[in-house]
Amino acid sequence: MNKIDYLRISLIDRCNFRCHYCVPEGTKLDYILQQQLLSYEELLTLLKEVFIPLGFTKFRLTGGEPLLRPGIIDFVREVAALPQCSDLAMTTNGFLLDKLASPLFDAGLRRINISLDSLNPEIFDKMIGNGGKSRWQQTWQGIQTAYEVGFNPLKLNVVILRGLNDSEILDLAALTIERNWHVRFIEFMPIGNNKLFDECAWIPSAELRQNISQKFGLIESSIKGNGPADVFKIPGAKGTLGFISQMSECFCDKCNRIRLSADGWLRPCLLNETGEINLKDALRNGVDCDRLKEQVRNLLLLKEEINFKERDMGTDGVYGRTMSQIGG
Ligand code: SAM
Ligand code: SF4
Repeated sequence: MNKIDYLRISLIDRCNFRCHYCVPEGTKLDYILQQQLLSYEELLTLLKEVFIPLGFTKFRLTGGEPLLRPGIIDFVREVAALPQCSDLAMTTNGFLLDKLASPLFDAGLRRINISLDSLNPEIFDKMIGNGGKSRWQQTWQGIQTAYEVGFNPLKLNVVILRGLNDSEILDLAALTIERNWHVRFIEFMPIGNNKLFDECAWIPSAELRQNISQKFGLIESSIKGNGPADVFKIPGAKGTLGFISQMSECFCDKCNRIRLSADGWLRPCLLNETGEINLKDALRNGVDCDRLKEQVRNLLLLKEEINFKERDMGTDGVYGRTMSQIGG
């Protein structure tokens, strides 16, 4: 089995966007109540007393939208200062980054992934489900600010949906030519919006690569991240292109991560609730950290290979939960 040393921590299930593929229109979400969220203090206890002693050194803060959680800067500072933390990253939609990129950087965050599905404000607003004022400009500004304050290389996460933003594959890929940005195309998964999936909105990475290669050429990059992306680059480009192909190519054998939801559920895999344990309840019921370590160790043994495409995810997201609720 792979060494599992990477924990994705969802800080909040709420979000200021409602992306089509994540929280489809009409979805009624029951948000986690404030008192049911793992507090920062509880999270730090779990990191120091359970995860770090078990060998976890890499942490990613996500959500929902992590920047909506009050007190995020101080929390980042505390996690970044843990001597055993070798890598701290965040995934955000970027909307609040114009103000927060600089304090986050000062607090010790060095790696950030920003989701950006379109360079066209109209398509962008359609994809994030915003019926009102356009959010593109502020998001784009957030990305620029993050880059300027020193998040370098900067990673952009893109989900391409047929008929929505597939006309922009080349423009998004071209962002890497002049900038040291890493654009990562993530295959759409039928989590949250199975209906979209049934409508064949999913585009396999191989098709994206072929389109990009025909226009610009594509070579394998020597820069590899520690994640599941296959990394390429346009010849002569400053940045890279990553392809995360969990639907078309199983990469479970390379997986090094588990996920903690904002209300304390620890799950061995995005699509696997087997053996899920609630660390918040356990902590609040006075279970000691040695016992928790044992439970987490047992949960790691439940990681198994999963075929994303064939997995029955129910009709309403993974067993009724969207990505924003599980923690993407
Ligand atoms: N709100 C933040 C953001 O959008 O970056 C963090 C949470 S979001 C759930 C994390 C990542 O999950 C985003 O890059 C988003 O594009 C991706 N995501 C959400 N739903 C998805 C789906 N059904 N298939 C593939 N990726 C998805
Ligand atoms: Fe979009 Fe991220 Fe919010 Fe989901 S959690 S709706 S992907 S911004």
